[in-house]
Amino acid sequence: MNKKIAVIKGDGIGPEVVGEAVKVLDTVAKKFGHSFEYDYQLMGGCSIDACGEPLTDDAIAHCKSADAVLLGSIGGNTTTSPWYKLPSDKRPEAGLLKLRKSLGLFANLRPALLYKELASACPLKTEISSKGFDMLIMRELTGGLYFGERETKEIDGVVTAKDTLTYNENEIRRIAIKAFEVARKRCKKVTSVDKANVLDSSRLWRKVTEEVAKDYPDVTLEHMLVDNSAMQLVKDPAQFDVVLTENMFGDILSDEASMITGSIGMLPSASLNETTFGLYEPSGGSAPDIAGQNKANPIATILSASMLLRYSFDMQKEADAIENAVQKVLEEGYRTCDIYSEGTSLVACDQMGKLICDRI
Ligand code: NAD
Repeated sequence: MNKKIAVIKGDGIGPEVVGEAVKVLDTVAKKFGHSFEYDYQLMGGCSIDACGEPLTDDAIAHCKSADAVLLGSIGGNTTTSPWYKLPSDKRPEAGLLKLRKSLGLFANLRPALLYKELASACPLKTEISSKGFDMLIMRELTGGLYFGERETKEIDGVVTAKDTLTYNENEIRRIAIKAFEVARKRCKKVTSVDKANVLDSSRLWRKVTEEVAKDYPDVTLEHMLVDNSAMQLVKDPAQFDVVLTENMFGDILSDEASMITGSIGMLPSASLNETTFGLYEPSGGSAPDIAGQNKANPIATILSASMLLRYSFDMQKEADAIENAVQKVLEEGYRTCDIYSEGTSLVACDQMGKLICDRI
């Protein structure tokens, strides 16, 4: 298969971790007889320095013409970097928001997987972490409270602020369909998280999700209130497969789920639109504290590349090969500094990339 991937290295550790992910993609291409063409684009601080803005229209056009986008991370030290003296719409993060909006990315997928080898990093009690977990949070990304009407005004002499949480049935249906499709490729269970005991938007969410579920009789649907979900995530995370939820609940629950894996450098993410097109990036940031030192953990970005193959190119065997290689490297005891513990072998970012390539 011939595919074009727009690649945005970004700032901080971005170029280092993306470099390793591209080596992994090249290894997969060679082994499975594919050809990947990379179209490198700028976004974030490096684009501010080179073009005066965090994302140019030309870069967006290039991303749109690719089959998928692989991103490192953007931004710098928010206290010391001159990028953060600029108005907020000119800062590095504005580029990412603009890109997500231009590409119509409404579904954010964040897997949270506890590797047995890294179980000691999990902050939960051993009796819980020893069961392991492998869930995927599917968060709606373009609706809800963050995009609803808001205002702050004085009413009868009292300053009052208002945010609104709006979803229409089409916005709910399209993400529910994504969740059921993804669940079919995993353990065939969707937990839809809402606050249907209080919110109208949640009652509509529940109704539409149930309608969509009728088309997926092989997938089990359960509903869970968001407050209970936050508790269940730390009490019994092994019960979850795909967790489907609206924007703000997903924002909070996906961070909670990342936290219980104990290792941000291991967590990939994907943002999808209605087609097979997607943007794939590590869940962490640009880690300016370790940038340029060959210390970063490239696994989150390498696993993002694996999600790219799985969800945008429907290359299941190829994605499995990457994930198995990562698993093998961990079993063999290799660790970058963020996941290092006594008795394991400390390796640099590029060595970790090579070890994974060698096991594909
Ligand atoms: P961060 O995720 O960059 O770093 C937090 C801590 O985790 C640091 O100690 C860092 O060294 C470590 N870390 C993160 N990724 C790692 C990896 N792959 N390997 C080893 N260690 C890793 O979060 P922050 O410090 O709050 O933010 C730094 C910059 O990143 C800010 O400018 C922020 O706005 C930006 N940011 C960008 C994105 C994105 O590009 N999507 C996401 C979050 C933060």
